[in-house]
Amino acid sequence: MVDCVFCRIVKKEIPSTVVYEDDDIIAFNDINPVAPVHILIVPKTHLKNLSDVSEEHAPLLGKMLLVASKLAEEKGISEKGFRTVINNGPEGGQIVMHLHMHLIGGKQLGHKMG
Ligand code: 5GP
Ligand code: ZN
Repeated sequence: MVDCVFCRIVKKEIPSTVVYEDDDIIAFNDINPVAPVHILIVPKTHLKNLSDVSEEHAPLLGKMLLVASKLAEEKGISEKGFRTVINNGPEGGQIVMHLHMHLIGGKQLGHKMG
């Protein structure tokens, strides 16, 4: 998608600090981190959000979680703990309308979810 910031990051038209990449997924540091580790795990194909996925995307969604687990291990936060978040739609707090998972950790996170 031409005007999508994450599609432009996928195409390397916008620079980012890439921490993982394969044929299906790119992961990079969030530009405005809320914790010492704050990585965005992004499918390379443009999907708006979880309301835009179907059965065929099940392997991709599974892979996003596996990448999160692998990166948590790499960043040394696997044992202490971390959080994965997918914001979905305006009331879910989604700002960038290209499906992405936040991987957040490296400090004590609050219990408040809403
Ligand atoms: P959302 O609220 O949509 O779940 O989160 C979008 C996230 O993308 C935010 O945490 C924001 O800081 C991050 N973000 C927005 N634009 C850019 C960008 O150009 N580069 C990077 N690395 N992160 C971005
Ligand atoms: Zn996109």
